[in-house]
Amino acid sequence: MRRTLPHANLKMIGPWCFVDYFGPTPQTDGMVVAAHPHIGLQTVTWLLEGEIEHRDSLGSIQVIRPGQLNLMTAGYGIAHSEISNPTTERLHAVQLWLALDEQLRNMAPAFEHHADLPMVSVGGGVAKVMIGEFAGTKSPATYFHPMVAAELRLSAGSHEIALNPGFEHGFLVVAGEVSMQDEVVAAADLKYVATGAGSIRVDCASDAVLLLLGGAPFGEKILMWWNFIARNQDEITQARAQWNTRDLRFGAEFEDRVGGWIPAPDLPNVTLQPR
Ligand code: MN
Repeated sequence: MRRTLPHANLKMIGPWCFVDYFGPTPQTDGMVVAAHPHIGLQTVTWLLEGEIEHRDSLGSIQVIRPGQLNLMTAGYGIAHSEISNPTTERLHAVQLWLALDEQLRNMAPAFEHHADLPMVSVGGGVAKVMIGEFAGTKSPATYFHPMVAAELRLSAGSHEIALNPGFEHGFLVVAGEVSMQDEVVAAADLKYVATGAGSIRVDCASDAVLLLLGGAPFGEKILMWWNFIARNQDEITQARAQWNTRDLRFGAEFEDRVGGWIPAPDLPNVTLQPR
C-alpha cells in the first residue's frame, strides 16, 4: 500500500484529503480491514481488479467490483469493514477520503453504491464519471463540496483534457507510461495541477489508466487523526473514547466474515493542530 495523500508538500486537493493506492497484489495478501469508525468525512472505494465486501453499522452489505463506486458518508459517526472476497485472484484498489465542510460534517451517516456510472469520450479516450461532472456528464453520486472524480482510460498518444479552472486537480497514474507538462509521472504517482488550468496535455507512451481527483480549494483547516477528521483535539479525544467503549455514536455492531473490531490507538503526547 502506498499513501500518496497527505504528502509533506500537499495536504489536500480540493476536499480530497487521503489517497491510498493498494496493489496490484496477489490475493494471498488480500485486504482485511475489520470494523473501524469514521467521523467528518466521506470514504470512496474504487477497484481496478478484485472484489471487496463492505459492511457497515447502518446494516449495509455491499460487494463492490471494478468500475463501481462505494461512497460512505460518515458524518457524525459510522463504522464499517472492508474485506476482499476469497474468489479474488488479484486486488488493485484505491481508497479515498473527502473532508466534509463545517456545516455538514456532523450530518447523519449514509451509504450508497453505484454500479452503473456514466461514461464520456474525452481527448481520444474514455472517462467514467465517479463523482461530480466531467466533460459535460454527471455522476449520480451524492456530494457536497464542489468536486470531481473520474477514471480515465487513454490510448497511446497525446490527449488534451479539459479541466475546471476553479478546481485544483490530482492525476493518479494506475497503469501505463504517462508524462504531463514534460514530466514523467510513474505508476502510483500523483501529479498535482493547481487552480487556473483550463486544460492539460497527457502524453501516453502506452495505453494508460488514470484517476482524476479535483475540487474547489477546501478553505478550512482540518485535523486528521487515525480514521477521524475534526477541527480540534477535544473532538478527536471524544470520538476515540467513544469508539473504544463501543458507544452508539458509531451505530449498531455488525457481523462480517472475520469479526472483531480495530481499537483506536493511543493519542500522541503532543497537542494535535489542524492544518
Ligand atoms: Mn474505513
